[in-house]
Amino acid sequence: MTIRHHLSDQLLMAYAAGDLPEAFNLVTATHVSLCDECRARLAAFEAVGGAVLQEADSVEMSDASLAACLDRIEQMPQATHRAPMRRAGCFPAPLAGYIGGGPESVKWRNLGAGVKQAILRTGRDASARLLYIPAGQAVPDHGHRGLELTLVLQGAFRDDADRFGPGDIEIADEAVEHTPVAEAGPACICLAATDAPLRFNALIPRLAQPFLRI
Ligand SMILES: [Zn+2]
Repeated sequence: MTIRHHLSDQLLMAYAAGDLPEAFNLVTATHVSLCDECRARLAAFEAVGGAVLQEADSVEMSDASLAACLDRIEQMPQATHRAPMRRAGCFPAPLAGYIGGGPESVKWRNLGAGVKQAILRTGRDASARLLYIPAGQAVPDHGHRGLELTLVLQGAFRDDADRFGPGDIEIADEAVEHTPVAEAGPACICLAATDAPLRFNALIPRLAQPFLRI
């Protein structure tokens, strides 16, 4: 897998600091699991976080806190051993674990013309969805009110900016208007996260938008 489109420093830093909404966390973790380059950059940001904590002034806790903590650990039921979820189909481990399987375990909803989506259950501050776009199909032309991250899991799509293949991530903001089109070959499956509703230019998608929760 040759990945040419990566996460920004800003996103990796926010992820390391635990500042991202759940939907963006999921996309970030999924890309990092596929991308050696972003994993190395993330490790550097995490090291900075560790150094900051080490240098920070400590705050005294109450006398009994250590004993109380050890007590709680002792009372915890023995963890039943569960193997971590592995890659399932085109879903890398973080996403497969989240869904509980691969694309076949997803409850897809038809959006017409063979395009399907599934909205994932995440915190309300941002939303995550899976998109299934058959070869040659387009996602309606749209702009963005906030930030949109799109990670390709299978197939590829093209828009005005470039071509995005498996593992590539497109970061689109208010300045971007695009019409992603799925390339010939296997259907394009993407994981996308947005922190504000998209802005569609055509009337019909705009009318349908509240129902589709795009
Ligand atoms: Zn990367």
